[in-house]
Amino acid sequence: MKNADVARELNVPVGTVGYWLHVERAKHDALPGRPKRPCPRCDNAPLDESAYAYLLGLYLGDGHIIRYSRHRAPSLMVTCAEAWPGLMTECEEAMAAVFPHNSVSRMRRTGCSNVKVYSNHLWCLFPQHGRGKKHERLIELSDWQQRIVDAYPWRFLRGLFHSDGCRVTNWTTRLVGGERKRYEYPRYLFTNKSDDIRKLCSDTLTQVGVAWTTLARGSDPFHISVARRASVALMDAHIGPKC
Ligand SMILES: [Zn+2]
Repeated sequence: MKNADVARELNVPVGTVGYWLHVERAKHDALPGRPKRPCPRCDNAPLDESAYAYLLGLYLGDGHIIRYSRHRAPSLMVTCAEAWPGLMTECEEAMAAVFPHNSVSRMRRTGCSNVKVYSNHLWCLFPQHGRGKKHERLIELSDWQQRIVDAYPWRFLRGLFHSDGCRVTNWTTRLVGGERKRYEYPRYLFTNKSDDIRKLCSDTLTQVGVAWTTLARGSDPFHISVARRASVALMDAHIGPKC
C-alpha cells in the first residue's frame, strides 16, 4: 500500500507512516541505498559458530557493548594488551567472521588496543548485555548459545582464558641425589568476579575432561585453577600461553 493510503486507513499523518517505515527498515538494516546486513538471529543469516564461541568467551571475559547515542549502532569492544599481538589478531578475525558485513577496527590506547565492531544486532548475538557490571547481574546462556558452546567447547574456553585467564609457571627446587634440581609447575588460572561466568567456565572444563579447583582470594572464590598434569597438557594443546 502507499503511505498515503495507510495514513488514511489509520487516520494518522502521512509523515508518521513514513517515520514508522524508516524506523522499521533501520532496525532490519534495510534502509534504501545502504547495504543489507543480515543478522543470524533476526534473518537466519549463517553464523560462523566456531568464531562465535571464541568471541562469546572474549565478550564474557573482557568485552563491553556500548552505545554512545540512540542514533548510532552499539559497538562491541574487547580490550587487548599490546603484549599479546597474536591474541589481538585472533580477536579481530573472530569479529570479522561473526560480523562479515561490518568493519572491525583497532583503537590504540596506552599499553592496549580496543578491538571494536559496530552492529545493530549486537544485542541479538550477545543477549547477556545489560546495565551495570557483569558480576552484579545474572549471566546465563540462551539455549542456542549453549548449543554452540557444546559444539565448540574449546573455542569458548580459549576465548575465556584469552580474556580473563593466564598460564603461570610456579617453580621450586628439590635435592635429588645430592643435586639441586628445579621443578616447574605450570597451571592455568581463570579469574572473574562473576559466579555465573566462572560456572560457565568450570562446566565447560568438566565437559572437555579438564580437572579444575577453585582458589579463594580472601573469602571470595574468584579463581578457577587447572593444575593437574594431564589437564594442563590438554589446555596446552588447545589454548596455550597468550602470545
Ligand atoms: Zn538481529
